[in-house]
Amino acid sequence: MDQFPNVDLCALPLSANPDGSPPNFDDPPSLQPILIALTAILLTLATVITAGRLYMNRNALKLADYCMIVGLAFDIGIASVLLASSNNYRHPWDTPICWYTTLTFVEVLVVGPALFFPKAAIFLFYLQIFSVNEVIRIGSKIGLVAAFLGYFPASFALIYYDAPHIGQTWEDVITSGYPEKGIPGGIAIGVASVIVDIYIFILPLPTIFSLNIARSKKIQLICLFTTAFFGIVASVTCLVFRVKLLGLDDIGWQSGRVAIAIIAENNVAIIVGSLPAFANFLRTYVSQATFYKSLRSKLSFGSSNYASDTDQHGLPRNRSLWTFGSPPKRQLQYHELSNSAILTSRVTVPDDVVIATHDTDRILRTVGFSQETRIGQLSEASTYESSLASYFSIQATSVRPACIVSPETAEDVAKAVRIMTGYKRYACPFAIRSGGHAAKANAANIEGGVTLDLRLLNSVDVSPDKLSVSIGVGNTWDAVYSKLDSMNLSVNGGRTAGVGVGGLILGGGISYFGTRYGWTADTITNYEVVLADGSIINTNVRENSALFWALKGGGNNFGIITRININAFAQGPFWGGFLYYPNTVWGNTVKEFVNINSATAYDEYAALTLSWGYSSSLGTLVACNMQYTTLVENPPLFAGLTGLPALFGNLQITNMTQFALGLRSQQVYGERQLWATNTFISTEASINATYRRFNESVQAFMPVANITVAYTLEPLPPALYARKVDNNPFNLGTKNQSLVIALFTASWTDPADDGRVEKTTRTLTSAIEEDTRRLGAYNPFLYPNYAAPWQNPIVSYGAESVGRLQKVARDFDPHGVFTRQVPGGFKLT
Ligand SMILES: Cc1cc2nc3c(=O)[nH]c(=O)nc-3n(C[C@H](O)[C@H](O)[C@H](O)COP(=O)(O)OP(=O)(O)OC[C@H]3O[C@@H](n4cnc5c(N)ncnc54)[C@H](O)[C@@H]3O)c2cc1C
Repeated sequence: MDQFPNVDLCALPLSANPDGSPPNFDDPPSLQPILIALTAILLTLATVITAGRLYMNRNALKLADYCMIVGLAFDIGIASVLLASSNNYRHPWDTPICWYTTLTFVEVLVVGPALFFPKAAIFLFYLQIFSVNEVIRIGSKIGLVAAFLGYFPASFALIYYDAPHIGQTWEDVITSGYPEKGIPGGIAIGVASVIVDIYIFILPLPTIFSLNIARSKKIQLICLFTTAFFGIVASVTCLVFRVKLLGLDDIGWQSGRVAIAIIAENNVAIIVGSLPAFANFLRTYVSQATFYKSLRSKLSFGSSNYASDTDQHGLPRNRSLWTFGSPPKRQLQYHELSNSAILTSRVTVPDDVVIATHDTDRILRTVGFSQETRIGQLSEASTYESSLASYFSIQATSVRPACIVSPETAEDVAKAVRIMTGYKRYACPFAIRSGGHAAKANAANIEGGVTLDLRLLNSVDVSPDKLSVSIGVGNTWDAVYSKLDSMNLSVNGGRTAGVGVGGLILGGGISYFGTRYGWTADTITNYEVVLADGSIINTNVRENSALFWALKGGGNNFGIITRININAFAQGPFWGGFLYYPNTVWGNTVKEFVNINSATAYDEYAALTLSWGYSSSLGTLVACNMQYTTLVENPPLFAGLTGLPALFGNLQITNMTQFALGLRSQQVYGERQLWATNTFISTEASINATYRRFNESVQAFMPVANITVAYTLEPLPPALYARKVDNNPFNLGTKNQSLVIALFTASWTDPADDGRVEKTTRTLTSAIEEDTRRLGAYNPFLYPNYAAPWQNPIVSYGAESVGRLQKVARDFDPHGVFTRQVPGGFKLT
C-alpha cells in the first residue's frame, strides 16, 4: 500500500538541510570515493592472499579453507552491495527519498554471514594448528559458537525490519520507520564483532608468550597477530558509527562510515586468516620460481640478463646437453654476444681460473662444437643459472663450473664421461649432481670444471607385477611418491621433497619405512652405472656384485649411477606429523625416544625424529616428527609424546607425497648450510649429555645473524641397520644395540660468520664424541648423508670395509677417475 500516492519521492530529500540551503542531488559531499578506493585495495589483497592459501593447501583442503572460501564469497557479495549503494553515503538533505532500494535489504541479508565465515575460518585454523593445546582447542570452539550467536540472531532482526511486511511496498519500508527500529540489531552485530575480534587476537597470545624466544623476536611474532589488531580497530570504529545511527540526524553519512568499517573489518579478517598459508605459499613457490631464482642469482652474482627458458622444474625447455657458464668476473650481456665476443671471451674456461691438469676448452673443441653451436648454447645461460640456483645450500650455488652438462639418457652420460676422460693430457675435473641437496659446497658442483646435472634422468616406471620400480637418479623423492601414491604403492626412499634419488642412495638412505626394510640402498636390486671408460653396466646380486655392494654407501667413487631398480610395496596413507613443545619437556621426550628406540622390540611401523632447535626468530624449541606407517591414528606407542603439552603441531593421516612436501616447507633454502653427524648408543645418559652440549653451544651460535641450529636424533635400531648387514659397507655388525644417528644442522646468511659456525660445530661434535666415549656409548659410524666436510664417513666404516671398497674401485675404475678427477663428495683415500 503506497502511503504517499501523489508525492514524487525522488524530488524530496530525506531531511531538510540544517543551514536551510536547497538539496544538492547532483554533486554533494560523499563517502563514495573513499569506499571505492578502500574496497579495491583490500578486496584485491584478500582475494590474492586467499588464492595463495588455497593453492598452497590444494591437496588437503580443510574445513577452515572451505569456510574462508565461503567467507570470501560473502565478502565479495557485501562489497558489491555496499558499492552499489555507495551513492547514498551522503548527507540526508542531499539524498532523494526514492533512493532507498532493495539493496539495503540485501546488505542486511549478507552482513551476518560475511562477518561470521572469515572469523569462523580463523577459529578453525587455530583448531588445526593448535590441535594439541587444550586451552586453545576449547577456546576456539567457544569462539565459533559465540561468533555464530553474535552475528546470526541480530542479522535476522535486521532482515525483519528491512523487508516490507504484508501489504507494504519497498517504498513503504523507508517511510514506515521500520529500518530505524533495526538499528539496535546493527549495534548488537557491532558489539559481537568487537568481542570476537578481541577474542581472536588474545586467544593464541599466552602460547606465543610461552615460547622461549628472544624478546625482540617475540615482538616480531606478535606483530603477525597484530595485523588482527587492525580488525579490532575497524570493528570498534564500526560500532561507534552504528551507535551514531541511533541519532538519525545524518543517517546516510553515518551509514557510509559503517560501510567503510565493514569493508575494513571483513577484509582484514580474511587477510589475517589466510596470511600464514600465504607466507608458506611465497616461501614454497615464489622463492622457488625461476624468475625469483634468477633474480636472486643475478643479485648474488651480478650475472647477465638472459631471458628465462626453463620449465616449472627449473629444467631447460630446450634441452641441450651442454650449457656454458661465464666467469663471475666478467659477465657477457646478451646484446654483447657477437661471434668475436664469444671467441675472445673463451667462455668455456675463464682465463683467470687455474686448472693445472686440464684444458676444458680444448676438450670441448675436440668434440666439434662449431661457432653456431656455441652461440645457441650461450643464449641458454639462464639454464646454467637456474641449475646453480637449485642447489640446497648457497655455498653449492656459489660454485661456478665452466660448463654444466644436462644429459637425458645413460648414453648421454657415457658420452660426456668419454669426452672428459678420453684425453689423458687434458683430463677435465667434473662433478656429479642429482638433487643437489648435499650441504657441502663442492659435493656435487665444481669450480671451473664440468658439472653433470642429472636431473633430466627422471623416469619412474613401475614393473607390471608392481613389485619393483625403475627410477632415474635425477628424480626427487616427492616426484617418485606422487606417481606411486596414486597406485597405493611406495618405496623405501627419502623423506623430504626436493632431495635427489642419486645422492641419497649412495649414502645408504634413511626412510620412514627403514625399520620395515632397512637402508634405502638395502632395497635396491639393480644399479645401472656408467663407468670411467664410458661403458654402461648393470650391477646386482648376479652381475658385478662387488660393485653392487660398494654402491650401497660408497658414494661417487666408482661410477655414475643413471637408474636404479628398487623394491615396491603396497602402501596407503598413514598417520604422522610434527609436534612442537616448549623446552621444558625435553627430558620427557628423551625418555620416550629411548623407549621407542628399543633394540629388541622396535615397532617396525614407527618412525621418529627428536630435535632440539634454536633460531634467532623462534628461540629454543623441542620437536618430534612421528610416523606410524600404517592406517592407525594416534598409535598408543606415541602416547607418551602426543600426551605432552605441545605448542602446536600437524598430526594427520596423509600420503607420502604430502608428508614429503610438508617436510620440505620446513627447510631453509638459499642460505648457508653446515651439517655434521655423530653416532652413539641410545641411552638416556648419552642423549641427556648431548642435550647439555647442544644447549651450551647455542650461546656460541647466538651472535650469528639469522642463525637456525638443530640437533636431530634419529633411531638406528637393529631393525634398520641389521636387516642386511652383509649387503652394504657400513659394517654396523649384528650388535644387539639400538644406536642414534645424530644430525647437527646450521643455516645462516652472512659468509663472515662461516668461521664461527664451523668452529662451534666442530667443538660441539667433538664434545659429544668425548661424552659418549666417557659414557661407553660411542660408535665410530658417521652417516655419509649427514657428514661435515671435515668428517670422514668412509674411514668410519672400518679398515676391512675400506679395503674392500678400494679393491672394487681399482677393479672398476683402474685409473682412479672417480676418486681423483671427481674431487667432490667423500673420497676413498
Ligand atoms: C632437506 C633435506 C632432507 C633430507 N632428508 C633425508 C632423508 O630423509 N634421508 C636421508 O638418508 N638423507 C636425507 N638427506 C640427506 C641427503 O640424503 C643427502 O644430502 C644426499 O646427498 C642428497 O642427495 P642429492 O641427490 O640431492 O644430492 P647431490 O648433492 O646431487 O649429490 C650428493 C653426492 O652424491 C653424488 N651423486 C649424486 N648423484 C649421483 C649419481 N647418480 N652417481 C654418482 N654419484 C652421485 C654427488 O657427486 C655428491 O657427492 C636430506 C638432505 C636435505 C638437505
